[in-house]
Amino acid sequence: MELEVAPQPSTSSGITVEPNTTQGNQKEPPAIVTPAHHRVHFLYNASVGVSMQGNLPNDGFAKLSRKYSKLLRGVLNVERPKIAHEISRTFCKRCREVLTAKIPKVECRMIQKKVLQRKCLTCGNKKNFQITPNYISKKQQIANKS
Ligand SMILES: [Zn+2]
Repeated sequence: MELEVAPQPSTSSGITVEPNTTQGNQKEPPAIVTPAHHRVHFLYNASVGVSMQGNLPNDGFAKLSRKYSKLLRGVLNVERPKIAHEISRTFCKRCREVLTAKIPKVECRMIQKKVLQRKCLTCGNKKNFQITPNYISKKQQIANKS
């Protein structure tokens, strides 16, 4: 009984599992987390957290959150880490205002049938987003294939 039990775990777990995990890692790009990612996420959390405490459009909380977002933009320009779109779309590209807050800081409206326009209420910068009903991102397409 000892001879039957002992060879099965050693051959199945030791040999077959490890090559499968390495082949899976070779197909997918490795997720490299650098110190710049930590700095970006810290500054993002700080700017959004401070912005959520403010009650006026240009109070101290908004100014401090803009300061953090400008630091974040500086880190992005120097270190160039890849970040999610959700992080970059939280800030206005012109005035670095944090668009997440208790009070409305953006105005969204449909300017055409399939075009949504976001307008920053601080500086008036406008950004258009095209709406496609059956849109699937590249990550979702890759996940659906595998
Ligand atoms: Zn703005």
